[in-house]
Amino acid sequence: MKTAFRNGSSRVRVTETGADPRLAGGRLVIDLSALADNWRDLAQRSAPAKCAAVVKADAYGLGIAQVVPALLAAGCESFFVALPEEGVAVRRIAQGADVYVLNGVHALSAPTMTEAGLIPVLGSLDQIELWAKHCRERGLRNPCAIGVDTGMNRLGLTVDEALSFRERNLRDHVISPILVMSHLACADDPGHAFNAKQRESFQRVAAAFDDIDSSLANSAGIYLGDGFLHDLTRPGIALYGGAASVDGTTPMRQVVSLDARIVQVRQAIKGETVSYGGTQTLTRDTTIAVVSVGYADGYPRSGSGAGVPLRNAVPGGLCGHIGGVKVPLLGRVTMDLTLFDVTDVPEEALEEGWIELIGPNIPLDDAARAAGTIGYELLTGLGNRYERRYLQAVES
Ligand SMILES: *Cc1c(COP(=O)(O)O)cnc(C)c1O
Repeated sequence: MKTAFRNGSSRVRVTETGADPRLAGGRLVIDLSALADNWRDLAQRSAPAKCAAVVKADAYGLGIAQVVPALLAAGCESFFVALPEEGVAVRRIAQGADVYVLNGVHALSAPTMTEAGLIPVLGSLDQIELWAKHCRERGLRNPCAIGVDTGMNRLGLTVDEALSFRERNLRDHVISPILVMSHLACADDPGHAFNAKQRESFQRVAAAFDDIDSSLANSAGIYLGDGFLHDLTRPGIALYGGAASVDGTTPMRQVVSLDARIVQVRQAIKGETVSYGGTQTLTRDTTIAVVSVGYADGYPRSGSGAGVPLRNAVPGGLCGHIGGVKVPLLGRVTMDLTLFDVTDVPEEALEEGWIELIGPNIPLDDAARAAGTIGYELLTGLGNRYERRYLQAVES
């Protein structure tokens, strides 16, 4: 890891991790100042509720080691991960924070939870028993959270189980919950009737657990407004610049840009085909730029150019951007290489040697949509062969 300062109108600290920048096939730039701005924006929308940060899957692929310190500095005090090892990684950086483990606890993970001071989100009556026994045998009263299912049918006690457990816990002090939470299934579609249904179910639970905090909203849930905010919100994707709503209107700052190195520019003739399967026939004499990023880097094969049967529903496929021009992807994305039609791109731009795949001209969600997926999957799939540059504005 290398840190340097770049001087411009404002000072920016650049921290380099990942592959050697001289050798890497692609460059991932992560703007930690934009990330912190996004958290502050969501915290403001959440107030008076507190705002946590969801940093599961290595902070949606962007790196817990860089993302968590930036969020701590912005004022974030609670973090959610999926797995205990992710929680341990957060705990090393954030000694005083609340670190919740969404996927719950099992017999083998309980010791890690108590050793690292992680807070499991208990998702069934069995998990509650397991946690109670684990803590009792060690004389511990470690905090936990209770997950309640209000319609996802994923993790969580049923509403009735939660309400009756509440009575039992008041009587018997089985466990020491500090949070009760549920998760929205359709929050990205503000008009969906399921949102109000889940809000009402969860309201009953939160009212019963009236002496502890309650939490319902993910990124999109924050935009649904008051009845969804409760005491603590749990945004993930919006922190990282993704749209939190199906209409794509969420005004977050872009955090990620991805550029691919051009390894060759070649001329091909009208009527020839390109890439595996020869699925795309060139309709004109074409200048092709070959970049060294492929599906092994998380650049989705499902976003291939014309003729790929994988992607019937998404006409056009992915595109890149270079020299002020949008350039279509040609043929199939391969493991380590992808082809773009750069016939209309000025020579000087090609000589610079990079094509933007995600960034100011190709928003994350547009790229995801062109590959038939969502920003979440695109981000979490970005591989570890990139040079990674973390940018952070420095107070002067
Ligand atoms: C992933 C997750 C979140 C964050 O969701 P976003 O849509 O990324 O904001 C919040 N709560 C739970 C339970 C999750 O699994």
